[in-house]
Amino acid sequence: MSENTTAAGAASENLFRNALPGILSLHAYTPGMPIEELQRKLGIADVIKLASNENPLGPSPKVSAAIAEATKGNLGLYPDGSGHKLKNKIAEYHGISADRITLGNGSNDILEFLARIYAGPGRAVMFSDYAFAVYPLATLAQNAEAVVVPSHGADHPTMPFGHDLAAFTRVLKTRPDVSLVFIANPNNPTGTWNTPQEIEAFLDSVPPHVIVALDEAYFDYQDVELRSDARVWLDRYPNLLVCRTFSKVYGIAGLRAGYALSDAKVADLLNRVRQPFNNNSLALVAAEAALADQEHVKKSVELNASERIRVGAELQKLGLRVLPSQANFLTVDFGRDAAPIHKGLLERGVIVRPMGSYGMPNFLRVSMGTVREDDRFLSALREVLAEGQR
Ligand SMILES: *Cc1c(COP(=O)(O)O)cnc(C)c1O
Repeated sequence: MSENTTAAGAASENLFRNALPGILSLHAYTPGMPIEELQRKLGIADVIKLASNENPLGPSPKVSAAIAEATKGNLGLYPDGSGHKLKNKIAEYHGISADRITLGNGSNDILEFLARIYAGPGRAVMFSDYAFAVYPLATLAQNAEAVVVPSHGADHPTMPFGHDLAAFTRVLKTRPDVSLVFIANPNNPTGTWNTPQEIEAFLDSVPPHVIVALDEAYFDYQDVELRSDARVWLDRYPNLLVCRTFSKVYGIAGLRAGYALSDAKVADLLNRVRQPFNNNSLALVAAEAALADQEHVKKSVELNASERIRVGAELQKLGLRVLPSQANFLTVDFGRDAAPIHKGLLERGVIVRPMGSYGMPNFLRVSMGTVREDDRFLSALREVLAEGQR
């Protein structure tokens, strides 16, 4: 037994020995629990997932039609590696030229391209505390240093846990080794945001060789006056890259498609590291159909806006603090360890996202669902909280 253990220990030491230090220092991303997993564990059929900020309406019906049509074609052939048709539709949608667009297998892919191009040993990547989990992953995997800027405090009057872009500017002045900056606006997992004025002031302060990636995964969920004009900014700031995804409001998270808008020279670099066929044939046609159905986007945004208000008010009635959100989720402060509440919700077939891995153990993040799903979440939560008081 001990001999085996020692042998196994020695083997794993060998297997880890030449792994790059950055890789050894990181932890694999923890995704939201899949519905099937909880069904298996509990032996119940009726499970809802409000844990990964997906669109509760799913994709536009036009997406399924486009996929059905595409499956009649020859899936034995490689996809169009240049994504010509989709890129042209995106170019038209944004009013910019197609050579400024890079397609990703999800926008996660884009974030990794950026790290591969601009980060590495001796370089640093800057992002906020409580920002999207993929930023440290992409940074550390490149053996670059993460410069984590303190966020607004937990008791900030308007934007608790939000990105402090004035602090970004100050820190950047002291860190000439920073080559890449990630900003999530609105941010996940907090839902907090920066105004276009704040972002512009930051962009004005950034040296032109530092790349700023503005991750706008939740763009469409924002109030109109908070939405940036990517086209204007991209023309003014060649070092800016804007990231968008088809996973959230477009409802095709399962297919994996996202894109970057940038200067054509940055797009050229991104294409050098992009896998030749990073978007599969079905994702390409699905994204095109999703983009074309802006009515579905509108409907999804309206449902989210009303549920965000309604669920937020219900949570406040329960005495809970809810972080300000411009996204399709609410991040809720339970004022104590939220793990038992998370567990109680799971036992009632409701999957939400624990925030311990983000250093926010007292919080849970809940994606807005349909009215029925949100009611189910709220009644499960009321039960769990009442049980906790007994
Ligand atoms: C969900 C999300 C993404 C998008 O991920 P995909 O890879 O496009 O599915 C990117 N950034 C943030 C902040 C997100 O929350």
